[in-house]
Amino acid sequence: MSEGTLSSSIQSIKGVGPKLSKLLEKKGIKTLEDALYFVPRAYEDRRRIQTVSQLVPNVAATLRGRVLDSKSIRQRRGQRFEVTFGDKTGQILLVWFHAFSSLEKDFSEGNELLIHGALTLYGSRKQIVHPDYELIRELEGDRPRVSLNFGRIVPIYSETEGLHQKALRRIMGHTVRTCEPELKDALPEELRKRLNFPTLKKSFTDVHFPEDLPTEAGALSKSLQRIIFEEFFVLQLGLGLNKQERAKVKGIPFPDDQKIVDNFIGRLPFALTQDQKKALDQVVIDLARPRPMTRLIQGDVGSGKTVVALAAAAIVAKAGYQVAFMVPTEILAIQHFKTASQWFEPLGIRVSLFTQGLPNKKELLREMSEGKASVIVGTHALFQQKIAFEKLGLVIIDEQHRFGVEQRTQLLQKANPTPHLMMTTATPIPRTLALTLYGDLDLSVIREKPAHRKPIQTRIIRAADRPALYQEIRRTVDRGEQVYVIYPLVEASDKLELKSATEEYQRLSREIFPQYKMALLHGRLASEEKEAILKAFRAGETQVLVSTTVIEVGIDVPRATLMAIEHPERLGLSQLHQLRGRVGRGEAASQCLLVADFEASRRLKVMVDTDDGFEIAEADLQIRGPGEFLGTQQSGLPGFRVGHLLRDSSLLELAKTEAENILAKDPELKASEHAAIRKLVDSRWGFKISRLRSG
Ligand code: ADP
Ligand code: MG
Repeated sequence: MSEGTLSSSIQSIKGVGPKLSKLLEKKGIKTLEDALYFVPRAYEDRRRIQTVSQLVPNVAATLRGRVLDSKSIRQRRGQRFEVTFGDKTGQILLVWFHAFSSLEKDFSEGNELLIHGALTLYGSRKQIVHPDYELIRELEGDRPRVSLNFGRIVPIYSETEGLHQKALRRIMGHTVRTCEPELKDALPEELRKRLNFPTLKKSFTDVHFPEDLPTEAGALSKSLQRIIFEEFFVLQLGLGLNKQERAKVKGIPFPDDQKIVDNFIGRLPFALTQDQKKALDQVVIDLARPRPMTRLIQGDVGSGKTVVALAAAAIVAKAGYQVAFMVPTEILAIQHFKTASQWFEPLGIRVSLFTQGLPNKKELLREMSEGKASVIVGTHALFQQKIAFEKLGLVIIDEQHRFGVEQRTQLLQKANPTPHLMMTTATPIPRTLALTLYGDLDLSVIREKPAHRKPIQTRIIRAADRPALYQEIRRTVDRGEQVYVIYPLVEASDKLELKSATEEYQRLSREIFPQYKMALLHGRLASEEKEAILKAFRAGETQVLVSTTVIEVGIDVPRATLMAIEHPERLGLSQLHQLRGRVGRGEAASQCLLVADFEASRRLKVMVDTDDGFEIAEADLQIRGPGEFLGTQQSGLPGFRVGHLLRDSSLLELAKTEAENILAKDPELKASEHAAIRKLVDSRWGFKISRLRSG
């Protein structure tokens, strides 16, 4: 069977023993299939043989000539090996900074060789250092016979210590030849032909040992495109199948009751933006369906996602069902609890707060299990095993990227039928990532910010200019406004950094601003302490709040108009943007000052230039790449062997469209022409996708 060959160990390749296979494993190559997907990082065209007289400094070229002389030279720092090499047109020196017997043997006088390398000038000496080479043993006509390393377009692989190009080429050559007969197309024939992609067999041969290269610089060959497309296509099909699967799950329909929504919205001190209205309309429609909603609301900080979430909560609560509103931090839980209590009181909806440090937990637990608690705002504590709901109708997960997928799943499993799920995120996710990560979710985007928001002026301040920063803080406080000073901790548990934040706080409060009321907020404080500190800040009793990034998510204090961020280089741009969103929430103009050195300030410039979270997210993604961008938490991002989300975004779009087309015609991929691709989807993602996704 074909899978047999592809999945067999790389050690089945001639000449690959335990030692080599260990090195290959470093490159992620364990099986023949892994090796096929280990595509070259570049190519060198060695089809044309040039002469010594044609050489141009620093441009790689292939030469054919003879060894005129060779010698090993002993130096203080090891050995050097020098060869005088020439053709009809002239001579050059080949230099190695080591000597091996094999090298000396290959370059004995009179031997005819092909070499490849770039000419360098060393004083008046013309030399090539460490050229690639091959003895000419056989001729075809008057040309040297084409080998893996010469006479063709040669693949350049990513090397590792002890595993070099020649060995890699030999292994890849063997692998391609061994696997070739087994490579069967999984892409439906019609699709492959329409997109003008070569067969799988041709694609892999061509990617490793191409006959030609795309003429356009940076362009990918059709063969490589095909391999990347297939990777994306298989994922998109998996996501699509998953979405269909979920559409079969039974949920609780909450009929669209406009009166409840109007009653809730009408009492708010503001009118909804167009984007908020649109998102809410979509949510209302989802809730009315007899299957569970799985919707992600994406919107920049301060775009007003909470209102939309609470409107949904009102519908469900009024229908006699419970709502679990999950937030990532206790501080935020308290804040949402207060907002919700205030807005829901006139509607007669009871709101409860459930956190780890809650004093009379038992009573609330009983109320929850009896269905008396209607809207429960809480932290991770809500995931716990012992928590039961009587009639859970809706789960809201605020700042969903802060939670693991497992946790979300646990919460949904607390009820049968499956509750509706609504998630929000303030990290705008570039479309390419969203397609991959959330391809099976319904997405609402709130891009428009509430009117009358004053833009936040952002500046970079050199560390040496701290006095100017202190001056700005004084001016702000003296106007009756408030200030955040942020010390990002890389790890919430990092004691050393916490110590430095604490010391800085003491210095500021004792030496710089003895006249102001200040407080220090960090994740290790007890919840009552945190609450007391935030309460005082919200009430304007404290003027300067020194804090770690615990305030990153969601804190809303309109009178705070200045945020200073120390060590902004420790954070991603998107995270900085979230932090910055803590100011600019009131009527007065706000500013954000980033204290950075020269090196960091280049990267931070985009913060100065734009206040659009989506633009910043794009920049952040470009700088850090998808993995880092999504953070170290379980990002759920599937790994691709060849495809790059950024470079290959147009192939990703194409794969998405084609996957939708094919599923529209054959929803379960049951047709015989889809059997192969279905098998591939199942074997690659089947299990993983259903676990990746929460719904
Ligand atoms: P986020 O999207 O970051 O969660 P919030 O929901 O916390 O934003 O909203 C930020 C602030 O804006 C809150 O004080 C909220 O009451 C207010 N707000 C929300 N929608 C509007 C609106 N349409 N007009 C004016 N203010 C609004
Ligand atoms: Mg929020």
